[in-house]
Amino acid sequence: MSKNKIILVTGGSGLVGRAIHTAVESEARPDETWIFLSSKDGDLCNYDATKRIFDKHHPSHVIHLAAMVGGLFHNMSHNLDFLRKNLQMNDNVLQVSYENGVEKVVSCLSTCIFPDKTHYPIDETMVHDGPPHPSNFGYSYAKRMIDVMNKAYYEQHGCIFTSVVPCNVFGPHDNYNLESSHVIPGLIRKLHDIIQQGGESFTVMGTGKPLRQFIYSLDLARLFLWVLREYNEVEPIILSVDEKSETSIKELAEEIAKSYDFKGKIVFDTTKADGQYKKTASNAKLRKYLRISSLHRFPLQ
Ligand code: GDP
Repeated sequence: MSKNKIILVTGGSGLVGRAIHTAVESEARPDETWIFLSSKDGDLCNYDATKRIFDKHHPSHVIHLAAMVGGLFHNMSHNLDFLRKNLQMNDNVLQVSYENGVEKVVSCLSTCIFPDKTHYPIDETMVHDGPPHPSNFGYSYAKRMIDVMNKAYYEQHGCIFTSVVPCNVFGPHDNYNLESSHVIPGLIRKLHDIIQQGGESFTVMGTGKPLRQFIYSLDLARLFLWVLREYNEVEPIILSVDEKSETSIKELAEEIAKSYDFKGKIVFDTTKADGQYKKTASNAKLRKYLRISSLHRFPLQ
């Protein structure tokens, strides 16, 4: 029988954390104990607080989701905070994981950290190939450093600390705050308010032309479980829908309007930023693994 795992999820009360919670409830395994942390459990930007959390729970595995996150407009106005908070948190979580003998850490990156000027589709080998988009350079460089640290922990100490790179995520418990939200909850909230107020015009920021791949948080959560249980590379793996599922912001706005049965006008405020035009990511590596996995050829090593 395999050894019992104690899995600590940092950022366990966020969009992805709560989705993993739901996935674990339906795919529970008797040898796994899951602990979902929220910011109330301690400040991961502080080394001592991080150490206290790990000493209390003795995790054998960590899913590191805690991060300062936000949509395009929040990033543009807070690059320094995104850089510092995420660097501090990641340094503490990885170092304390190492000090406490954690067997595996899965950290969460994002397709928005990839180089801005690049060729498509983007794959896992291209994370450090050029500067990120200037709108979110703070967040991007902090997240890229996780991959650098994972390699260094492996080289110096043999740790299996890895990372996943999801495309844009949406789902239950998303952040609907208009100042800091991503585009899907932002547009849902906006249209909801417009309809409540009897408005007839739905304003979408930017040109509507940018393209994004969107993954549903519960689908992503199941992929996280697979990575935790089966994926043993230090190198990152992209967790994304197919390239052909890429959607423009205009199509997204129309879809949301249709769901609300909104018959008014959709207006694009082109004075507002578009951010990155696209960041089309390839899920070929994931698909290859899952093909092998479905043939029951795991474990890999
Ligand atoms: P990104 O993928 O990191 O850029 O994240 P976002 O979810 O913030 O998506 C941004 C795209 O949606 C950009 O092209 C924005 O111009 C566009 N967008 C349109 N309306 C909104 C909105 O209300 N909130 C956000 N965050 N983006 C919006």
